[in-house]
Parts: sequence; structure tokens; C-alpha cells
Amino acid sequence: MRKKIVAGNWKMNLNLKEGKDLIERILTELPNLNEHNQVVLATPYLHLSQAIAQTQHTAFVSVAAQNCHHETSGAYTGEIAAPMLQNAGVQYVLIGHSERRAYNHEDNALLAAKTNAALANGLQVIFCCGEALEIRDAGTQNDFVGNQLKESLFHLDAAAMSNIEIAYEPIWAIGTGRTATAEQAQDMHQHIRQVINAQFGAAVAQNISILYGGSCKASNAVELFAGADVDGGLIGGAALIADDFLGIIKAMLSA
Ligand code: PEP
Repeated sequence: MRKKIVAGNWKMNLNLKEGKDLIERILTELPNLNEHNQVVLATPYLHLSQAIAQTQHTAFVSVAAQNCHHETSGAYTGEIAAPMLQNAGVQYVLIGHSERRAYNHEDNALLAAKTNAALANGLQVIFCCGEALEIRDAGTQNDFVGNQLKESLFHLDAAAMSNIEIAYEPIWAIGTGRTATAEQAQDMHQHIRQVINAQFGAAVAQNISILYGGSCKASNAVELFAGADVDGGLIGGAALIADDFLGIIKAMLSA
């Protein structure tokens, strides 16, 4: 049975005290979770150690980095390597967020290399994909997202895929307040599962968690998460507000 996951992407927000307070509130009011649920907090690098210390005794809450370098060490000023994350106790890493694809020119080939580095160092990868508005308007979103998966993940074997989660995040819905409809989300998630099924087989496809991201809030999460292939969410803005994030976690549990 695949996991339902709510992951919060803090992006470049919150100072250390604000981050600490937010996690404290989330942990204090966290509903009962079980081995079929996971909450993931993708904090800025600076917060990782603090977040790991705060969550270490709380089962089913994990900490993620928002990126890692594709090399394992070396002269890459300002970068963080996957072995450093693993050594610090980080369990997950976001790879391929649309903001990094756009602002840091990360292409599918580089994201394949980053995925390899993360997996080789025992990290669980939340691989982000999703189309821009002009692709959606042209009706070619299924091919576009399928190609993102093909070019960054299809070199892996089925065993490696058990360490991958997918986050479908239509770019036109990220931080815009414009959410995909529950039907648009379910349609794309079903397509992603079919693409994975065709490449890796039914066992991998049925076990992989596919999260929706893009202006997901406590008020629309129940509807979005109702889709049979929607296994939770990757949450940006609403992950910075304890009540909103807790509401989305509750929506995951009720879906
Ligand atoms: C994100 O950046 O991953 C995201 C989903 O952002 P938001 O929820 O703010 O649209």
C-alpha cells in the first residue's frame, strides 16, 4: 500500500526562530499518523539540523533538503552534496522543483544526475515535474510531463524507483492562487502512473506516491486529495502557516 504524504516546501523563507516555532506548533497539534502516512518538511539548508533535532522522536515526520548537487564533493562554492545531507540525518530531497529548473537552469539530464547522487547516498527523492501554462493551453501536458519523467528517471531500475516519490506541480498553479481542478490533477496523476507502469511495471506504479502541488490549501485539499491517484501534496505557501499546514495534513488523513 503506497504512502500518503504531505510535504511542506518552505523555499527561501523563515529565520531559525520562526522555523523552530513553526515545527513546534506542528508537532504539538499533529494528528495521529501511522506507517501509511508521512509528513515531510523541506526547509532551507540552514534549518536542517534544527528541524532534524526537533523531529527525531516523532515517527512519520521527516526532514528534506530542497536540492542537492550532482557531485558528491569538490570545488562547488555554495553547493551542498548528497552525502552531507545523509550524514546530517536528512531523509528526503526535492529534485527538479520548477523554480530551480527556471532560475538555475536545471534540465532533465542534470536532474537525472542529481537523482543518482541522492539515491546513491540513501536519500528518498521527491521528483518534481509539471508543465507551463502555454503547454497546458496547447494540450500537450501529458507528453511534456511524460518526457520529464523519461529523461530524468527511466535509466533507473525498479528497485531504485521504490525510493522515488513524484510531485506533479503545474507551473501555472504554483504560488498563483490558481489551483488545478481536482479532475485535472487526477487526470495527470493517472497519466503519470500509466507512464511509470509502462516503463517499470505494475508493482512499481501501484507503490509510488504521486503528490499534487500548486496553490493547495486546507480549503481545497480534501477535494484535490480525493482523486484515486492523488496521494497527498507538496505544499508551498500554506506550509508556512501552522494552521493551514495542519489542515492539509488532516485532509490527507480523511482522503
Ligand atoms: C511549491 O512551490 O512546491 C508549491 C506547491 O507552492 P504553492 O503551494 O505556494 O503554490
